[in-house]
Amino acid sequence: MGKIEMKAQLMVLPYAPEALEPVISRETIAFHHGKHLAAYVNNLNGLLPGTEWEGMALEEIVCKATGGVLNNAGQILNHELYFGQFCAPKAENQPAGRLAEAIVRDFGSFDAFKEAFQKAGATLFGSGWVWLSADKDGKLVITQEANAANPVQKGLTPLLTFDVWEHAYYLDYQNRRPDHLAALWQIVDWNVVANRFA
Ligand code: MN
Repeated sequence: MGKIEMKAQLMVLPYAPEALEPVISRETIAFHHGKHLAAYVNNLNGLLPGTEWEGMALEEIVCKATGGVLNNAGQILNHELYFGQFCAPKAENQPAGRLAEAIVRDFGSFDAFKEAFQKAGATLFGSGWVWLSADKDGKLVITQEANAANPVQKGLTPLLTFDVWEHAYYLDYQNRRPDHLAALWQIVDWNVVANRFA
């Protein structure tokens, strides 16, 4: 008993694999969630037994570990936040309430925020993630994180992320990373993001 509960689990998607089309295809979801994320889960479960990391929360592992444990735990945490923040496409999709007010306060407008976020994603060299996070005072910040890094390593609370590893978009958009990033706004579930900010 117990040991099974300590294993990392492949998250269950909160939507059908075709639900995000045409922004993200069923095929991309099948590879991204069913192959890439599953591999990180299997890798971590192969690395943890008998180590100090066994049974530790992902966030804590990501802040303390190095090497393969850090890389696989980071990718699991990143993808759980990523896949957990989407919903079926909406034409007029934008945040509301306290989160919307904070975006206007810290970036000038929702459009200015989107532009800055997309630019950070488009200009991130190589593989990584662009993030919207809140600092200790609730101020919103955009960061670029390379490879498997996560803003929790900087003491930030991650709210929203776009994956700019090529596996996230290559089947649907090939080299057109900026087009992929621009399309993702249609499927952001702002209720999820607002709950992370609460
Ligand atoms: Mn990915």
